[in-house]
Amino acid sequence: MATPAETAAMQRALVLAAESVGTSNPNPPVGAVVLSADGEIVGEGRTQHVGGPHAEVMALRAAGQSAVGGTLVATLEPCRHIGRTGPCTEAIEGAGVRRVVFAVGDPNGDAAGGAEDLRGRGIDVESGLLADDAAVTLAPWLTAVRRRRPHVTWKFAATLDGRTAAPDGTSRWITGADARRDVHRLRAASDAVVVGIGTVLADDPQLTVRDTSTVRQPLRVVVDGSARTPLSARILDDAAPTLVVVGTDAEPDRVKALRSTPADVVELSRRGQRVDLGALLAELFEREALLLLLEGGATLAGSFVRDRLVDRVVGYYAPALLGAGPPVLGSAGVTTIGEAVRLEVDTVTQVGADVRIDAVLSREGR
Ligand code: NAP
Repeated sequence: MATPAETAAMQRALVLAAESVGTSNPNPPVGAVVLSADGEIVGEGRTQHVGGPHAEVMALRAAGQSAVGGTLVATLEPCRHIGRTGPCTEAIEGAGVRRVVFAVGDPNGDAAGGAEDLRGRGIDVESGLLADDAAVTLAPWLTAVRRRRPHVTWKFAATLDGRTAAPDGTSRWITGADARRDVHRLRAASDAVVVGIGTVLADDPQLTVRDTSTVRQPLRVVVDGSARTPLSARILDDAAPTLVVVGTDAEPDRVKALRSTPADVVELSRRGQRVDLGALLAELFEREALLLLLEGGATLAGSFVRDRLVDRVVGYYAPALLGAGPPVLGSAGVTTIGEAVRLEVDTVTQVGADVRIDAVLSREGR
């Protein structure tokens, strides 16, 4: 049974975990707190950038000798594997910690089993404290690890009547500067940003993080079955890494030309007419892209929704009406109202003059 001091420490660890969202990838955003033997907070830590120490190690370092006989409180089960950093369980034992309290169990095949490992080292372990709260911050990472594919957020901007462009094709700008800056924050928190070739041909987007601080640029991905990406496309510049995903049947000369650019090119099989999205996500997971931002357009987003590969939707709605023009979502395989893909609204926020709606696919929608 957790003590009041441990519960308070877990609440502090949750704040630390939230602070590392978007900068810890592909590691999970974790917070950790060390309590001394008499229950005082003597160390705090959050997951550092890739290759850096885990939250537990940061907190133990901060605590130093004060950790001896104390308790480590963490939002995720400490790992027991040697990845880029050493196992946390070893560091915990080495620091002389007597007890570990964590919120959520680690589903990651390599890292899981930390609790068992700690018990084997003679350390008292308790799990599940404030687990529901911790799972909120960890949700995208948990989804990716459990499903062995990236967590997918589909983001779009539309008028209140669900249009993304006027009938003449003009679309800049539907939403205001505040919403556009918000999108850059979404990008900064993602490992990869994905668009279809239709969007590259229509808008020539650069897809980099601008107007906000970032620890790295996410991988830019264009799904381009027939290798139609123009060699002059901005997505092929060297401002960020790029992956062009072409079909295995794409014209070899075009593929060769794309390979001469700074971009990485990968050939994937098609399912029907289109690049196989399951294969695409498997490829991105292999590349440690766990958090994916799907930026459209409507055709590619329709395929993702049809295949139930969208986990979260972030819609920016501008208070404007167009009445005609392309819709925000292409065919998603829905033919009758009973097949509608149902969502649960998470938050509704006003961003400048626009409204941002965050929603997750309801259980029935999966
Ligand atoms: P798109 O969705 O960006 O790209 C569609 C193309 O992607 C397909 O034609 C197909 O070309 C390729 N593709 C490869 N695999 C696919 C798969 N599994 N499923 C679907 N497509 C696949 O193009 P779009 O629908 O024409 O949208 C472009 C328009 O959307 C632009 O006008 C842009 O301004 C707008 N847009 C709006 C927003 C917004 O939030 N308002 C965001 C992005 C884009 P291949 O067969 O050649 O592979």
